[in-house]
Amino acid sequence: MVEQDTAVRPSPTIAAVLASGDHPTMSFEFFPPKDDAAQAQLASAITDLEPLRPDFVSVTYGASGSTRERTIAATRYLSTRTSLRTMGHLTCTSQSVAELEAAVAAYAEGGIRHVLAVRGDPPGGPSQPWVTHPDGLDNATQLVRLVKAAGDFCVGVAAFPDGHPEHHDVDLDARILAEKEQAGAEFAITQLFFDADSYFRLVDRVRALGCGLPIIAGIQPVTNVRQLERFATLSGADLPAPMVAALHAVAEDPAAVRELGVEIATELCDRLLAGGAPGLQFFTLNRSTATAEILARLREIPPHRG
Ligand code: FAD
Repeated sequence: MVEQDTAVRPSPTIAAVLASGDHPTMSFEFFPPKDDAAQAQLASAITDLEPLRPDFVSVTYGASGSTRERTIAATRYLSTRTSLRTMGHLTCTSQSVAELEAAVAAYAEGGIRHVLAVRGDPPGGPSQPWVTHPDGLDNATQLVRLVKAAGDFCVGVAAFPDGHPEHHDVDLDARILAEKEQAGAEFAITQLFFDADSYFRLVDRVRALGCGLPIIAGIQPVTNVRQLERFATLSGADLPAPMVAALHAVAEDPAAVRELGVEIATELCDRLLAGGAPGLQFFTLNRSTATAEILARLREIPPHRG
């Protein structure tokens, strides 16, 4: 008699899903809620988005470790209350190696197997020079090594189609991405961007270095013009002038801004998928409507009907 294998098998990692080439991944980024009202908003967004069956969801981490407990709690909430593959972000800013190791251990204890290892903004803010914690790490590449050494984690990293704002050197960015792969990173997720060609040029630069890291495209649905301009300043993303002009033309009409924002994102996602992007990560800001609408419209475009 053949005994039935009843052991629970761990679900495939994000890297394995990407490597299978089965479908472009679709995923959602959330931030950790800071109070009960924010928790209710996150819960509502998740209720709306879970039926779309994302390949994974992720939770951001305050640059200085300020949200450590809340981020870890949110990842536990997602992994225990939902069926969603969950990733926690981690930053180096203002934290010692011991504190980083404790955060990684807390992820492991909560059953979180995926970490997005990013450096974080400088302790003085995005426009200030980077300062390493006296017992800490200098950059994300070192953080990838720390997480990989700490356990059986699948690790992702950040990528910048419009260049990282600190150096404005896209070739350096590509070399750093290749170093992150050598350190053990298995995929990257980009910063927000609006020109599909910037994404494809980044992929070309990285591939020219022999780096095969799958690069998931980060998508920011635009729902508010001023907020978009603030995000672009902070992240170094280029805003195409015609897009900004079109958004400003309807800036006083929130419904028109949202509609245009959905159109812009749908067109961008369509171009990215048609050009071979292996996945899309939506920066949801803990809201579901715009993201759900973009995905519904993408399904109406023939090549993406699933
Ligand atoms: P790094 O790769 O360490 O690069 C930082 C800077 O150092 C770059 O200018 C790079 O050129 C330079 N550098 C790195 N290595 C070298 C080297 N060997 N030689 C020379 N120069 C080097 N921030 C948060 O605080 N919390 C989050 O949850 C968060 N999530 C993010 C998610 C995504 C998808 C993205 C794209 C960004 C996220 N960020 C988050 C923002 C991120 O922390 C900042 O963009 C940060 O400034 C850079 O992070 P990094 O991981 O690219 O750093």
